[in-house]
Amino acid sequence: MNRTTGKLKKRHLPAGAVLLVQLAAALLLLCACAGGIHTPPGETVAGPEEPGLPAGNELPTESEPPAEDGPAGDDPAPEAPPEYAIDCLVLVDETHPLPDGWEDEIRLEQFTNAVGDEVRVEKTAYAAYLDLKEALAARGVYVDLDSAFRSVAEQQAIVDEFTEKYGPAYAEAYVAEPGTSEHHTGLALDLFLIVDDRIVYENEDLMEYPGIWAEIHAILPDYGFILRYPGGNGYPYEPWHIRYVGPDAAGEMAERGLTLEEYLAAAP
Ligand SMILES: [Zn+2]
Repeated sequence: MNRTTGKLKKRHLPAGAVLLVQLAAALLLLCACAGGIHTPPGETVAGPEEPGLPAGNELPTESEPPAEDGPAGDDPAPEAPPEYAIDCLVLVDETHPLPDGWEDEIRLEQFTNAVGDEVRVEKTAYAAYLDLKEALAARGVYVDLDSAFRSVAEQQAIVDEFTEKYGPAYAEAYVAEPGTSEHHTGLALDLFLIVDDRIVYENEDLMEYPGIWAEIHAILPDYGFILRYPGGNGYPYEPWHIRYVGPDAAGEMAERGLTLEEYLAAAP
């Protein structure tokens, strides 16, 4: 888990981002996540429309015939700038580094958690997390987020910190190499617990509550999350690390007992 309290660099959206496209972008994002669309690792994630309308061109209407320029890339001009549509099923691990441009595309929500750290989460995953948190609270289970999105530089700081605190073997086992952490996606969330009004934060302490984790894990798919490292898929068991994949994929993975790797391998 991320124990760093270092200040996070503020990210800015492209200057060209305009309000007009935000609703459409949100809808497209929902579609991309709910529909289980995913991009093979390493490919650039792109919206459903091609960017690059030259200034001054007329926008084509829906009824216009297709351009006759052939497949050389002169697709019909888009009706809007590039949309925000992320791949909720992106696989990032030791052999699948973060796709190019991901950090430029991602839109993050930021909040301050119960221990005073600034936490950033991909916006769709954050909305789903808030629903999950509310549902858990209704059951008397209280969670908060330790960390979610991390830049490559922040991941390096965690490697250094864990190496110093626990030794290189532990750091190697529990902390991903910078550039290969799922946390770079903004879709991976590390939870901590509040038990009897007491914050339970350190890894070794969190392991002391298997019953609470079981309650949490049982409803993750309802909110589009999976337990990413259940043990046995090449990583140590991490009850706190959950991953947003969207409700459809999460439900299918839960139903069929698949890890993300197995689910992607089985996809057509
Ligand atoms: Zn994690």
